[in-house]
Amino acid sequence: MCTRCMSSLRLRAMLKQAIPSIILFSKEFNLGFGHPATDACADCAKYKIRITDPNLTDTEKRMESASFILHRRRVCVFYEMLGRVVEGHLTLCFDMIQNLVLPKTAIGQAYYSRQMYLYLFGVVVHQGENSCQSKDDVHLYVWQENEASKDSNMIASALNDCLKVQLQGKVSRSRGLRLFSDSCFGQNKNMSMVSMLMELRQLFPNLGIEHTFPVRGHSYLPADRVFGRIEQKIRKMDTILLPQEYHAILQQFGNVHVYGTDWDVFDYREASKDYVKAQRSFKISEARMLDLSTNKVCKDYLQWGVLFS
Ligand SMILES: [Zn+2]
Repeated sequence: MCTRCMSSLRLRAMLKQAIPSIILFSKEFNLGFGHPATDACADCAKYKIRITDPNLTDTEKRMESASFILHRRRVCVFYEMLGRVVEGHLTLCFDMIQNLVLPKTAIGQAYYSRQMYLYLFGVVVHQGENSCQSKDDVHLYVWQENEASKDSNMIASALNDCLKVQLQGKVSRSRGLRLFSDSCFGQNKNMSMVSMLMELRQLFPNLGIEHTFPVRGHSYLPADRVFGRIEQKIRKMDTILLPQEYHAILQQFGNVHVYGTDWDVFDYREASKDYVKAQRSFKISEARMLDLSTNKVCKDYLQWGVLFS
């Protein structure tokens, strides 16, 4: 008998032995296995507690239940919108990754000392749910803490380079640009970003631009999949001493653009003070979705079909 047949027989015998205990365990014990939640939504947790609160009346519990259903519905609508990748439209997701430390070393003194940060901003061209995310679709913008801060001007400038230089051909051929990012006011959801996008509209007047923000607590985007792979790779490395070593690692995952060499910063914050602030008719903090071609603001995804159809 060959080795493969022997191991198959051995596996079958082991399973035969284990099946009674598996059945007993799954039927008699009410236990489940899974990864512990690390980034759970505060609203979901609040509703789950409120629904089972013995001090609430039946009517109050029903109202909490209805609010929870609406909250979950909003999350579903957001992910439906993200997944609606259609031809002729370019869908981009972007975010900042956790700061990368320099030097990364196993030596104890370095861990307890103040380390320098390397900032990384990632833009991913989303091709649809479970797409393979090729290197060409990933653009990674890096800069050091001593060169510039992590603010709205840097994020808007990096995205500006991505749209006007790296993806210029795709943007010019598109009818619509769909942007998805979290609602961080300091980075993505601010007037610097709006003024940069308004300037882009002047270059491409027929381009429709929508910027959509996720429900708080449910902000997992395709860019986070790339970041997860990068973090996994970096975690396995004991020593990284130079920014160039980080750049070499990042090049395995996408196109790396170094600040000062490949792209520069523009002061959109100052420019927006004179122009955009005087013209706008909406509060950006309330927006769940901005349509910059029509100046429409959606405050609730559940109204999206009515407002943007
Ligand atoms: Zn939630």
